[in-house]
Amino acid sequence: MQPTSKIYVAGHTGLVGSNILRRLKGEGFNNLVTRTSKELDLKNQQAVEDFFKAEQPEYVFMAAARVGGIMANSTFPAEFIYDNLSVQINVIHQSYVNGVKKLLFLGSSCIYPKFAPQPMKEEYLLSGPLEPTNEPYAVAKIAGIIMCQSYNRQYSTNFISVMPTNLYGPGDNFDLETSHVLPALIRKFHEAKVNGELSVTVWGTGIPRREFLHVEDLAQACTFLMSDYDENEIVNVGVGSDISILELAHMIKEIVEYDGEIIFDDTKPDGMARKLLDVSRINQMGWNPVYSLYDGIKSTYKWYVEKYGK
Ligand code: GDP
Repeated sequence: MQPTSKIYVAGHTGLVGSNILRRLKGEGFNNLVTRTSKELDLKNQQAVEDFFKAEQPEYVFMAAARVGGIMANSTFPAEFIYDNLSVQINVIHQSYVNGVKKLLFLGSSCIYPKFAPQPMKEEYLLSGPLEPTNEPYAVAKIAGIIMCQSYNRQYSTNFISVMPTNLYGPGDNFDLETSHVLPALIRKFHEAKVNGELSVTVWGTGIPRREFLHVEDLAQACTFLMSDYDENEIVNVGVGSDISILELAHMIKEIVEYDGEIIFDDTKPDGMARKLLDVSRINQMGWNPVYSLYDGIKSTYKWYVEKYGK
């Protein structure tokens, strides 16, 4: 990519897209194309065709997706599969039709089988049944990966797929019904502290383990892979270690400086027991994350208080 290359960031208002956009600007790219979902409905095939024909981007970061936590996935399964499949199909296909030089497709660690050995290597894709709580989302993302690989094979495109682990950071969704665990717990502990509540309820048993990557680290990995990685195989992006939801709750409790109790509500689903990515492939390319989880949560909490805190 040259500083003047025309780069389209699809989904630039989301957590991932906004951070990729900021990163690109910081790296000196000055010909960036964006559209809000009001300006361009990526689910609309004709609209996406017209957009690509008019703009002719050279590079595409495909960060547009319907995302959400364990509850959002089980409440809106139809939207999770329809929205993700349709935006991917349109953006990937039009990237091919219009001769995009390179596209980076963002997947997710939930594409891996429910009982995959841990940490999960890239080659475990499609080696077993999926975790039911996010199967529609995972199937859509797997379709996106296979679509990129199929276009590379048949049309000699350069479409790469990147699988980030659970992400967090400033700009995350803090809605308690639809968010992921980390922003949900920041909000729950903060509000309990401010309102003087005696306890905070955490969903599930606290036993599941998750790996958390700061979204700025992911954005840096994406620009790095866009310039340095041209293979057909998917690439995991994570930190290489995980913690239990119980440990996460205690860490956030400490950062927020909340004094009350933690209660686990095991009527809520645990989801996948563990989903730790094997990140040796990207590490061998020379990439490593910068943020520690503690520092990342601290700065995200600071951002949260400035934006929403009372
Ligand atoms: P997942 O990684 O796809 O399972 O998505 P989540 O980030 O939504 O959930 C991760 C784990 O955190 C699951 O075991 C949840 O049950 C647990 N969890 C605990 N408290 C919460 C909460 O308040 N919100 C969410 N979303 N998950 C929670």
